[in-house]
Amino acid sequence: QPELAGDFGTLMEWADKTRRLRVRTNAETPADCKTAHEFGAEGIGLCRTEHMFFDAARIAAVRQMILASDEPGRRAALDKLLPEQRDDFAEIFLVMAGLPCTIRLLDPPLHEFLPHEEAEFADVAAATGLDVEQLKRRAAELHEFNPMLGHRGCRLGVTYPEIYEMQARAIFEAAIEVATRTGQAPIPEVMIPLVATRRELELMKAVVDRAAEAVFAEKGRRVDYLVGTMIELPRAALRAGEIAEVGEFFSFGTNDLTQTTLGVSRDDAGRFLSAYVEQGIYAKDPFVSLDVEGVGELVSLAAERGRGTRPDLKLGICGEHGGDPASIAFCEQVGLDYVSASPYRVPIARLAAAQSALRAAA
Ligand code: PEP
Ligand code: MG
Repeated sequence: QPELAGDFGTLMEWADKTRRLRVRTNAETPADCKTAHEFGAEGIGLCRTEHMFFDAARIAAVRQMILASDEPGRRAALDKLLPEQRDDFAEIFLVMAGLPCTIRLLDPPLHEFLPHEEAEFADVAAATGLDVEQLKRRAAELHEFNPMLGHRGCRLGVTYPEIYEMQARAIFEAAIEVATRTGQAPIPEVMIPLVATRRELELMKAVVDRAAEAVFAEKGRRVDYLVGTMIELPRAALRAGEIAEVGEFFSFGTNDLTQTTLGVSRDDAGRFLSAYVEQGIYAKDPFVSLDVEGVGELVSLAAERGRGTRPDLKLGICGEHGGDPASIAFCEQVGLDYVSASPYRVPIARLAAAQSALRAAA
């Protein structure tokens, strides 16, 4: 691991000797991965692949994928995206040099990918040969009134499994390429978002496993990997016992878990939450510092039920709370294995993890 300079480095060294919780990072660009690695991140806890899809050079293919009305249309777009995704993952694996990397399969609110401007429709039409009017009709069909509760997360994977298949293939092709080139095998942990039921995870895990086997057969080489899930819906927390029959790890998505448990929109809460905090309804902004009594109870219940089924179930947190010291103290109490924070919060998380361990020991 790279060494940090001076007193800062010494402090971090003490923290590392003391803490039990591992600290990972939420990152998806090679630059962010590098920053986090230099700050001591021990792996990627969340790589949000949808951010890669917004890249200006590939957005037309992404829109083609979403707007295609049938599987061959989607596959044509996915064929264009596969080499780019493979390069995305290979770069991350190279930077993280043998550390575990949790890559979350696509989880966009669909409307973020839909074209709105005339020029955007024209771009997709030019890239696909489809008619602008047809594309507009299809975009109108895909409109959702409440996209955050709509066709996102694994619901996309269930309806369009070829998207997750492409991403899984890119992950395994990249892992084998890096393992061959460097002699050090990456450790991919493929994560399925917005799971509510065991069956969803079972279906999506089958897609990932099939892609892995196909790539391993083609390349004549295997890499170890895990398939797990986000726990970010109350139903998933409640049914964690059976979800752990399929999932090999859980990562708590406390942004969505807070939104869905409190019934408060994570995007609009600013309008009234400060009044709630002033009046003591919530001690702190629950999107910043975990609502330990409500959301926290679901986290500890899911941890207990998940480990009841699978005692070695790996548990982490990748919501924003993973970089908040008070929430990290809670993660220590619940017995999570790691927290994952944005790159610049990694040192804070290392320190907070050490403080939590000292408090737990006392
Ligand atoms: C979450 O919901 O906590 C999470 C980490 O995922 P995202 O913020 O991307 O929805
Ligand atoms: Mg989420």
